[in-house]
Formats: sequence, C-alpha cells, structure tokens
Amino acid sequence: MRPLRPAVFLDRDDTLNVNADLPPEAWARTKEGDLLDPAFVELIPGALEACRRLSDAGFVLVVITNQGGVARGGGSTRDIDACNTALRALLSPSDDHDEHVPAPFRASVVTASYSAPHHPEGDVPPFDDEHHWRKPGPGMIEAAAHELGLDPPRSWMVGDKQRDLDAATNAGIPPKRTILLAPGSPCPDLAAAADRILASAIDPSQTTRLTLRASSGAPLGDERARETVIATARAIAERTGVRLVDLDTADDRVTITLATHRLGALGFLAELRRLTNAWSRARAGADLWPTDR
Ligand SMILES: [Mg+2]
Repeated sequence: MRPLRPAVFLDRDDTLNVNADLPPEAWARTKEGDLLDPAFVELIPGALEACRRLSDAGFVLVVITNQGGVARGGGSTRDIDACNTALRALLSPSDDHDEHVPAPFRASVVTASYSAPHHPEGDVPPFDDEHHWRKPGPGMIEAAAHELGLDPPRSWMVGDKQRDLDAATNAGIPPKRTILLAPGSPCPDLAAAADRILASAIDPSQTTRLTLRASSGAPLGDERARETVIATARAIAERTGVRLVDLDTADDRVTITLATHRLGALGFLAELRRLTNAWSRARAGADLWPTDR
C-alpha cells in the first residue's frame, strides 16, 4: 500500500485569489463573497510562489472552498468548476505558461479542488441544506484524504476564516497545524504561512530564539508599531536569507526564532532594533528598544 502523504489544504477566496476587494461588477449575479465568474479570478500576489515552495517540499496541495452562492441561486456548479479551473491554471509553474496549451491542460501545483455548493439558507435544491462538506464540516478534507491518500495528522490548513480552521480540526488535522491569515498578524498571507509550514520541518537544535524587550511601557500594544516590527523582521529575513522560523509579539516585547547560529541571530536582532528604533524615533520621538543591550 502506498504511504499516506501530507497535504496543505487551502481555502480559496481571499487565501489564494482576491475576493473581498473585487469590483462591484464581480457580484452582478451573486451576493458579495460568492465568486462564480471565472473572469474575476485573480491570484493574490505571492500565492503562486508560496504554493510552489510547498509543493517542492513534498506537500500535496488541495483547495477546499464553500460556494454557498449556488444554493442561493447565484450560479451553477459548472460556474464553480470554471472558477476552480481558472485558479488552477493560474497556479501553474511559470515555465508552463505556454499560451498554445489551453489553460485547463496546463500542469498546476494544485492537485485537486473540492467545493461545497450548499447553504442552509439557500433555496436551490438539492443544495438548500446544511451539509458535512460545507466548512466547518470535515467532509471535503475527508473526501480528499480518502481519494488522494492523504494523512490529516501530518497535514496543514490555511484559510482566512475560523471555519476553515474548524473544518481542519474536525477532520483530524492538529490545531497547531492550522493557520489563520489575518492582516497585521505574523501570518498575513500565504507566503508567510508557507514560511511557517516549511520552518516547522527545521530541527529545533539548529535554531536560535531571542527576545527584544521594550525600553518602557507597552509600545507594541499600538497596532501600527506591532505591524511595523513584524514587517521589518520579515523584510530582514528576506534580504539576508535567514529563515524566520517563528515570530511572537506581546505588548512589551518581540520574540523571534531564527534558523541560524547565535551570532547570526544577534546580528539579525541588532538590525531589527536599529530599523524599528529609527522608525519609532521619526514617528514618536522615542526608541522602542534600549540601544545598550
Ligand atoms: Mg476565504
């Protein structure tokens, strides 16, 4: 028997493709939030690269999406399939963007897409009821695991809604392997989620964990300050190639775990302190962190 494989289950709308920020024309036939027109399928920047890195690392990528707009009369399951096909075509490696090959036949880093057209408030049978495929139900993940030979305990879920994460835990994916994308959080987008997933495979003995504590008060209680510290740490990691394994903030400190030796981590922390102190000085006339530590 073939061994079970780990997967990354991906929510679709606002995880892989732009949804909430679509123009009003996108919602001509549907309620806002129900994307059923393939002409409006557009990747979120960085999503393809993130998928490619996860795929290269050996994860099977599976899209699972609630599409209750069908139950509410905004389109058909054929419209869902058309959107999923358009998305999978966009998620094909760049060297496979041969325009002579029709989009549905290009290779995609995504192995499969599962959709739930049901909605309990819908009026289009047979989709006008609650269904175990509809997130937070576990049905789509269970079906994919069965059909594709996947291993939920070793898999991950990434989505922008709590129900995405609940569907995963209901299907046997450990809570610590579920990632909620949220602006201003350590995981604002799929690129950051991919960093976290790939970093989890790193041997902890090869990492260094360091904390910066505020000079006084609780400056990271300020949302903009917290977001700036997080964005700066990610930018330094990208520029230096040092992998940011974990980043945790409290109101008075930031703790980072880096896949490097202590000396490299101290250099990283010094750069983070220098840049964010300069930002804070320009903004508020005071340092965030003591400079003599
Ligand atoms: Mg979503």
